[in-house]
Amino acid sequence: AASHVEDISESSYDILAIDTANSQKLRPLLEDIVTNTDFFKYYRLDLYGRPCPFWSDEGMCGNRACAVDTIDDEDHLPEIWRSEYLGRLSAGSTIESDDLDDALGDETEESCVRDNDLHAPVLPQSRPMDYCSPEDVSGDGPGVYVSLVDNPERYTGYVGSHANKVWEAIYTENCFPDSSRSSYVSQTSQQFTSAVGRPLGQALMEGNKQRIREGGERGRQALNSENTCIEKNVFYKIISGMHASISTHLCNEFLDTDTGEWGPNLDLFMEKVGNFPDRIANVYFNYGLVAKAVAKLRHYLEDFTFCTNAQGYDADTRRKMLRIAVEADRSVHSHFDAKQMFRDQPELKEEFRSRFVNVSRIMDCTGCDKCRLWGKLQVTGYATALKILFELPDDCTGQNIQLQRMEMVALINTFDRLSKSVSSINMFLEMLAHPDSIP
Ligand code: FAD
Repeated sequence: AASHVEDISESSYDILAIDTANSQKLRPLLEDIVTNTDFFKYYRLDLYGRPCPFWSDEGMCGNRACAVDTIDDEDHLPEIWRSEYLGRLSAGSTIESDDLDDALGDETEESCVRDNDLHAPVLPQSRPMDYCSPEDVSGDGPGVYVSLVDNPERYTGYVGSHANKVWEAIYTENCFPDSSRSSYVSQTSQQFTSAVGRPLGQALMEGNKQRIREGGERGRQALNSENTCIEKNVFYKIISGMHASISTHLCNEFLDTDTGEWGPNLDLFMEKVGNFPDRIANVYFNYGLVAKAVAKLRHYLEDFTFCTNAQGYDADTRRKMLRIAVEADRSVHSHFDAKQMFRDQPELKEEFRSRFVNVSRIMDCTGCDKCRLWGKLQVTGYATALKILFELPDDCTGQNIQLQRMEMVALINTFDRLSKSVSSINMFLEMLAHPDSIP
């Protein structure tokens, strides 16, 4: 029992550190960058053109809340992204045409690097470094632009067997071949326990203490009894953390059909997330993982070109991004160590990667447009984080960053989603601790 208490106090520190870093530093910075910069606000993806590759589509969501408002009138887009513009540029090229110079004006000598291999009429193949199935985001491809600000991730009413089936298919991708257990398991199980520690300290949930502690202990025992390798563990946590984060958002912005008002639904949150300490832990795990990837980017940003608008290269966007990367490095201390992955079994890396690519393809089976938009974006965000952590060298100053624009947009928006989840989880636990304050 004593060591269990120690585990809780020791690892809860990390959770508290994330809470503090998030509320005091990263949440405001992320909220600002995804809301106020064109670069991170507009996302281009193939939302409608890719059929579900695993089963025939049935049960599409017809609710208005499931619909996505796409940007059909390109006049609403920054000029640099309009298809007439993109169409004039060759795939994979560095944009250095006179036209572009005109558009960029005199203020910059930068050029905009276009995504590679995106003009293919068939689905582009994932490249050896990709952890997701790439989208066709070329100007003349089937992709659409959406404003992420105008299509918030929230409750849509997409429920039932169709939605469950998609999640089930995603979790099935976690079926790695049996592998030897690694010592890392006991470390990660301590982190699982950290979710138990966090609500204890933060939300003063006296009545729930024992129950949550027991839940965490059960999760830990189950984990320890399994023959689980690090890679499978990490894969599962990413998926489960993403799932819990999505659930948190839909509970936070829930539509009360009686009143027609949007607001938090504590009971639904407890049912989907709050009663499962391991799910909360996985949200924090993902926060640490994505923060680590973003932090690593700080060395690369000097050479990354943000073409935000026709007025030219947007130094402001870069500065904002750099602040986030530096803050993520300074204040988020994640236990996630990419070097421990695939060390004992290098062959698992390809398996891990191809299974993650499959998860991204399963997203096309999601029968609700809004859910598919955010699902695809977040899987791309995690895939980008994995690519940065596993494929980019640490000493990278001056190296060309092999990231497409949409990967960067997805990464930062996924970080923002996790940041919002962490703040919502705290809010829900406060509500739980002070039920009298709920209106
Ligand atoms: P589900 O959330 O469908 O979960 C299925 C089963 O998975 C659960 O019964 C449980 O056993 C297990 N499970 C649940 N959470 C976890 C976890 N964190 N870790 C491990 N196991 C878990 N709905 C919206 O309203 N808005 C959205 O933006 C939205 N986006 C979605 C995106 C995708 C990609 C998908 C597939 C669905 C989305 N949905 C969205 C639907 C939503 O996720 C749920 O499927 C729906 O609310 C029904 O929930 P449920 O309680 O039946 O369980």
